[in-house]
Amino acid sequence: MAQAVLSLWPEARYAIGPPIEDGFYYDFDIGRPFLPEDLAAIERKMRGIIAQDQPFVREEVKLPDALELFKDQPYKVEILEGISESSEEGVEGEVVSLYRNPRKGARDGEGYVDLCRGPHLPSTGAIPAFKLLRTSGAYWRGDEHRPMLQRIYGTAWFTQEELDAYLHRLEEAQRRDHRRLGVELDLFSFPPELGGGLSVWHPKGGTVRRVMEEYSRKVHERSGYEFVYSPHVARSLLWETSGHLDWYADSMYPPMELDEQKYYVKPMSCPFHTLIYRSRLRSYRELPLRLFEFGAVYRYERSGVLHGLMRARGFTQDDAHIFVTEEQVVPELRSLLGFVTRMLRDFGFDTFEAKLSTRDPEKSVGTDEGWDLATDALRQALEAEGIPYVVNERDAAFYGPKIDIDIRDALGRAWQLSTLQVDFNFPERFDLSYVTADNERKRPWMIHRALFGSVERFFGIMLEHYAGAFPTWLAPVQVAVIPIADRHQAYGEHVAEALTDAGLRVETDASDETLGNRIRKAQGSKVPYMLVVGDREAEAGTVATRARSGDKRNDVALETFVAEVAAEVARRSAPALTDV
Ligand code: ZN
Repeated sequence: MAQAVLSLWPEARYAIGPPIEDGFYYDFDIGRPFLPEDLAAIERKMRGIIAQDQPFVREEVKLPDALELFKDQPYKVEILEGISESSEEGVEGEVVSLYRNPRKGARDGEGYVDLCRGPHLPSTGAIPAFKLLRTSGAYWRGDEHRPMLQRIYGTAWFTQEELDAYLHRLEEAQRRDHRRLGVELDLFSFPPELGGGLSVWHPKGGTVRRVMEEYSRKVHERSGYEFVYSPHVARSLLWETSGHLDWYADSMYPPMELDEQKYYVKPMSCPFHTLIYRSRLRSYRELPLRLFEFGAVYRYERSGVLHGLMRARGFTQDDAHIFVTEEQVVPELRSLLGFVTRMLRDFGFDTFEAKLSTRDPEKSVGTDEGWDLATDALRQALEAEGIPYVVNERDAAFYGPKIDIDIRDALGRAWQLSTLQVDFNFPERFDLSYVTADNERKRPWMIHRALFGSVERFFGIMLEHYAGAFPTWLAPVQVAVIPIADRHQAYGEHVAEALTDAGLRVETDASDETLGNRIRKAQGSKVPYMLVVGDREAEAGTVATRARSGDKRNDVALETFVAEVAAEVARRSAPALTDV
């Protein structure tokens, strides 16, 4: 690709071009952005280069020779100077590798040469299928004070079929992009007045979220959690005690001054829950103590990495902290893992993979026995639940081992969701204790866990997974009632009332729009069921139903339909993903 760009724009400057997941990019400066027709021209040129089957030839040259070769390419010169500065050999002794692809039968110096560590394919002819995807501005070295270059993204595959399948997945991901569906379905927005990464929730998005939260509260209550609340800000003393100002300050919003105190917006709820534990003397009889909160937290993320609800600066954790005795650690972690997977299944996800992160002895607090016990407990829990997992050796945070659980969505993409984290640090820092049966003081163990992770992000993942067609139990509007003509309005209201009385969410569209338009509108909003009612239905006390899946039924008794949908909601059935 770089060869094609340089042959089309001989004055182009070229920077770097690494491989990335499913493809590659390269950064150029041609004095202006690339246009769509430019990409088409580059692709044509690339096909020519591939047809010529140019060999990739590796060369190793001394740094001064490389500097001479690339003297008209300032970005290459800067890369070479960087190598020279970090070199132990000195400029004279350092060797760099180049790849040259001469065109067959061409004179010396024709073709293309670039700095590259390698390795490479043997020749350009070994590239069976590729496509250029898009361009974007990219600062040189990611630094906004440096020049803006133009980045071209592409993808390459072993066969045309694999390329086609990949392009289809990309298209599908774009169609399902939660930011786009959020606008189309009127669920949430990111008003620029608020600043990056901060969302507001519109009534329909708010409804789905309320149902998710109510469900979550209910299952937590059943599993012995108690509900607590904590403020959004706290003075620096808390964050000094918790250690956040030492190791997490870069991810926190800057402080605000009030009465000569510094206050910080909370990035986590853990210290608050710890203070609730410590508010009085605790007995072993109270453990496990499970404190739950939907905690709104704020974290600083660079504006370049913000991505709708998936990566935001303000979000809500379904956060809990569990305090247990040492004997309770293993059973608690096991039941916790079962709890997580049951909940994720209820939301329609049933493919799980886990990562177990273990101790890095170079930077960790706690005892060897503690780490061994906790790591074994996590491993046993994964095995008991039959969840496939990989071990990330020495990847745990300094304060304890953890399990991260990934789900796979309808497009086969993995999303990291739930985290179960053992913590040896907080109980020490906050000097937590409980009184044992023998009237001794002991330190409790602490477990942090979030199942959705972020409610907003989980919502975004579901939105993309279901392409906006939420399962009936979650759908903001579950049934749309459409009276055919004015004279059917009264019966339409009767139908809507019967559904509302059964606890279902109903919208009646008796507007002046044509019947066809109203049906299309209901379809566009991805409502699970649509009821069109006219003379025949009003007389017989029935409904004609159109399900989102395309199924149509006539002459269904109203009570039957109400009972069926209420049962579907109670089962929390997920729709077949082929229907969405
Ligand atoms: Zn926590």
